[in-house]
Amino acid sequence: MDISVVVPLFNEEESLRELHAWIKRVMDENSFTYEVIFVDDGSTDASWKVLCDLQKEFSEVHAIRFRRNYGKSPALYCGFAKAEGEVVITMDADLQDSPDEIPELRRMIVEDGYDLVSGYKMNRSKGDPLSKTIPTKLFNATARKVSGIKNLHDFNCGLKAYRKIVVKNIEVFGEMHRYIPYLAKEAGFSRIGEKMVHHQARKHGKSKFMGWNRFVNGYLDLLTLWFLSTFGKKPMHVFGFLGTLMFLIGFVSVLVVGGTKLVCICRDIPHPLVTSSPYFYIALTMMILGTQLFVAGFLGDLVSRNSKDRNKYHIAEEF
Ligand code: UDP
Ligand code: MG
Repeated sequence: MDISVVVPLFNEEESLRELHAWIKRVMDENSFTYEVIFVDDGSTDASWKVLCDLQKEFSEVHAIRFRRNYGKSPALYCGFAKAEGEVVITMDADLQDSPDEIPELRRMIVEDGYDLVSGYKMNRSKGDPLSKTIPTKLFNATARKVSGIKNLHDFNCGLKAYRKIVVKNIEVFGEMHRYIPYLAKEAGFSRIGEKMVHHQARKHGKSKFMGWNRFVNGYLDLLTLWFLSTFGKKPMHVFGFLGTLMFLIGFVSVLVVGGTKLVCICRDIPHPLVTSSPYFYIALTMMILGTQLFVAGFLGDLVSRNSKDRNKYHIAEEF
């Protein structure tokens, strides 16, 4: 099979038929063999009914229904598990992403040798308020920096194409769908490209991701990913380092407090209480913090040693 199209959706009843017809037209025009996997992320409208009707008419339509709303990442994860096409395309269900881009995206994977091609919505501000576009710019700049993937402008674009092996080797969890290129890179798929894609305003319904809190969460996720990819298998390296640093500062402070006291006693000059020195408090907090960080490091190592992924390495080839 040439292509699997994976579509995560949450309450998109008005768009599904049109989206399917559009995908079908593009596929037929290019005579691709394909399947469309809709993942209904716990919709409460008639989305599932529409999908059931579609499946009755078209055998290439497949669907998964979550019992409740889990989020876009879990939806993609399950769609990826089911996908069988050589190239896997993801797109949003709201008709913002154009299926007309599919042939070129596929070509970039098959002929140009990319592992992943991400869409880049050039004039994405169409229909989006400023409160969404400014954070998006900030977000992409940070993601580029942290992930080291310098050529991507639009990490969060729903329209992406993957070589099948990529989707079978990454684990999209939580809200990490924003960082799939980063996940792919961490799994050793470094040929990551970008294609400018046409993009239109949402036709029906409202965006499911609004407001600033998605950016706070987005940044926290990025921090987690960075931490996991850098220290995930060696937590003691970060906690131990910080712990040692704190402990040293504490230790020096103890020397200062104790030393001053000792000098005063030897010279028999009047000496204030140790608690009147700021170093006393610095010593106290730093030594406690240092010890705590060490304990956290040991616990982190304990957890990572017992995790089922502790020996999970991505193997590129094997005989
Ligand atoms: N979506 C989903 N689960 C959710 C939220 C959204 O499957 O919990 C789907 C949604 O139906 C759409 C895609 O993810 O197909 C992108 O969502 P949306 O268009 O609301 O995001 P935006 O384009 O505004 O970033
Ligand atoms: Mg959208």
